[in-house]
Amino acid sequence: RAKDLGRNCFQLYSPAMNARSFERLSMEAALRHALVRNEFRLAYQVKVDLISGRMSGVEALIRWHHREMGPIPPADFIPLAENMGVISDIGEWVLREACRQCRHWLDLGLPPVRIAVNVSALQFHETDIPDVVGRALRDTGLPPQFLELELTESVLMQRVDEVAVVLRDLRTMGVRISIDDFGTGYSSLSYLKKMPIDALKIDRSFVNDIFGENGSVAEEGASIVSTIINLAHNLRLKAIAEGVETVAQADFLRARGCDEVQGFLISRPVSGEDLISLFDRNLLPAGAEM
Ligand code: C2E
Ligand code: MG
Ligand code: MG
Ligand code: MG
Repeated sequence: RAKDLGRNCFQLYSPAMNARSFERLSMEAALRHALVRNEFRLAYQVKVDLISGRMSGVEALIRWHHREMGPIPPADFIPLAENMGVISDIGEWVLREACRQCRHWLDLGLPPVRIAVNVSALQFHETDIPDVVGRALRDTGLPPQFLELELTESVLMQRVDEVAVVLRDLRTMGVRISIDDFGTGYSSLSYLKKMPIDALKIDRSFVNDIFGENGSVAEEGASIVSTIINLAHNLRLKAIAEGVETVAQADFLRARGCDEVQGFLISRPVSGEDLISLFDRNLLPAGAEM
């Protein structure tokens, strides 16, 4: 990098770097207008109860389709939105849209399900979350017990006492809290015990490591997943596994007492309209039943 070449040495031209920074700049410019141009949509992925096989909840996942650049994955633009200082506006839009959609499903007379919304650590710390959530619920008429927030472990690592107060406020309202991508961060077990939360979502990478290449159980991978399930239950939390892609993984998770699963095995994220066909039926594929 130019910076590494010395203090007053500027590297004027590097085609690779220019292509990358150009792409980043145009994505930034586009992201600034994406909200007002109504370019965001939500996709919904079901969570399934491993005992009943029924939909237990739905996770809202943001989608951005740009006219020229096409679909841009959240892993690419969420960090950018954080850097640009627009994550809280986007996050508030997601929250309101998810509440509106969930209220709509209730109004259609579908079996009640909880909707989970991802909240970025930055959004959590820079806004008054209970206030934003309270307004979204009031304006959409969604009862609070139908809302869940997915937070990453990084939220739990800074300003621990303040965070615990905010989470308690949310729980008092009736909103549920789960910890997303659990096991990939560095949250300490003593913080976890202090925090008023409801569920741990086992990260996809661990689910992926339950079985080895040859299809047999991989001892270390399997024991990490079992340990997280037991940890959740010992703390009186629900355990939910994300990124479940095979019947064997679902069977393993059920045998170890995992409460819920989510993943391509059950359904990819779909539109609000397409989700309707997934209500009120057994979603576990044959073979994933004992
Ligand atoms: P996440 O919250 O952990 O969401 C799970 C991601 O895994 C989603 O990717 C989902 O499509 C994908 N996935 C689900 N099942 C499977 C599976 O069986 N196999 C595989 N390979 N992947 C699976 P997506 O939608 O691209 O989102 C990626 C991440 O972006 C999310 O991870 C979340 O951290 C973030 N994100 C998405 N929507 C929002 C949002 O509205 N707000 C914020 N702050 N972050 C969001
Ligand atoms: Mg999530
Ligand atoms: Mg996750
Ligand atoms: Mg994840």
